Amino acid sequence: TIVTRFAPSPTGFLHIGGARTALFNWLFAKHTGGTFLLRIEDTDRARSTQAAVDAILAGLQWLGLDWDGDAISQFERRERHAQVAHELVDKGMAYRCFASQDELEVMRTEQKEKGLPLRYDGRWRDRSPSEAPAGVEPVIRLKAPTEGETVIDDAVQGRVTVANAQLDDMVLLRSDGTPTYMLSVVVDDHDMGVTHVIRGDDHLTNAFRQTQLYRACGWDVPVFAHIPLIHGPDGAKLSKRHGAQGVEEYRDMGYLPDALRNYLLRLGWSHGDDEIISTEQAIAWFELSGIGRSPSRLDFTKLDNLNGHYLRASDDAYLTELVTAGKSLTPAQVARVRAGMNGLKQRAKTVVELASAMGVYTQERPLAFDDKARAALTDDAKSLLRDLHAAFASLPSFEASQLEETTRTFAEARGVKLGAVAQPLRAALTGTSVSPPVFEVAGVLGRDETLARLADVAG
Ligand code: GLU
Repeated sequence: TIVTRFAPSPTGFLHIGGARTALFNWLFAKHTGGTFLLRIEDTDRARSTQAAVDAILAGLQWLGLDWDGDAISQFERRERHAQVAHELVDKGMAYRCFASQDELEVMRTEQKEKGLPLRYDGRWRDRSPSEAPAGVEPVIRLKAPTEGETVIDDAVQGRVTVANAQLDDMVLLRSDGTPTYMLSVVVDDHDMGVTHVIRGDDHLTNAFRQTQLYRACGWDVPVFAHIPLIHGPDGAKLSKRHGAQGVEEYRDMGYLPDALRNYLLRLGWSHGDDEIISTEQAIAWFELSGIGRSPSRLDFTKLDNLNGHYLRASDDAYLTELVTAGKSLTPAQVARVRAGMNGLKQRAKTVVELASAMGVYTQERPLAFDDKARAALTDDAKSLLRDLHAAFASLPSFEASQLEETTRTFAEARGVKLGAVAQPLRAALTGTSVSPPVFEVAGVLGRDETLARLADVAG
């Protein structure tokens, strides 16, 4: 069965590039009925923090990307990593290198002067440890092949090849006994049973050395799928100046997890021309062959449009909870927001916009009026509203359709256009000039509040 994993380094928030990597791994596991694992690559003790681990877990949870079993700490597995290095020495696949830092510095200087690539020259490869100088703690290096090629049949990049002569004998265990990143990743992926490594293509060159290491250990090499990185709207590599990078920033800007998930899926993966792809569809369709080979660009307009779509498709009760949670509102205010949610969500692109638009239903009287609303409330308009107040007050029911009909009849009787009444009415009821349809607003506000807001203006 297929096993994938997401292996973030906990040095910051969950980056959207990382979130996309996690999504692809999660989808591929779901699609194949496999397993999706989470490994925290926390071996860099100076840069790894618990806060970053928590932020990554929270980001994945918010996006709905659940992993199987407990998150695995790479650091806690360091003894196992060291054990594998020692086993390789015993098998003759790795060796102790006693070259001192000074000695290696001299080697590099000479290589530099001769215009050669800087590369460990294998000077301890065939020497006996009995020749070891006193007082030097050795590193353990892989006895890498010196001839031939290392080939990767990458599921995204195709066949990529490196001449083994170009790769030197990498360090597996440092002189202080700590494992290197390269060793840890391979041992962990092997021990976790990972069959498919889907990750950013900034790791493509690492895959060559990792492949050499798998071979030395006598282990199956997983399928690699290196995804092109995400670029900014201008085509440059994604950086701070392009704006939000962390998943929680997107949440705070008012994007829904479903929308961000759909958006990240489309950043680098496609299924025909489909743009709106539900998670169920994505699970049914996700194949590695759908991953594109060129970097995808962030497109905030597209994200906004997707988010608007998911807002409109969302349950009103869920959205009400989202925008009212943690606010000090009365049950009556929350009930109004809930009743008006269908109208509100038609116009919003983000949850933040939705939360601000709900002010129509939650603001306390007397309302604050913006400039346009104030301008609409001329003396003539106020006198119309005074009479409309009387017409509304005598209505047996307070349905939007009933209110609209009453207002039409009223405008006709006065010989004015509907807008001449409806615009001041909107201003009086909302304090603004943009809102859901005004009769819907009045219906949601109900008789008492509508008449009170009218009276505040025209009374
Ligand atoms: N920890 C690495 C990173 O965050 C990922 C390594 C891997 O996926 O093999 O970039």
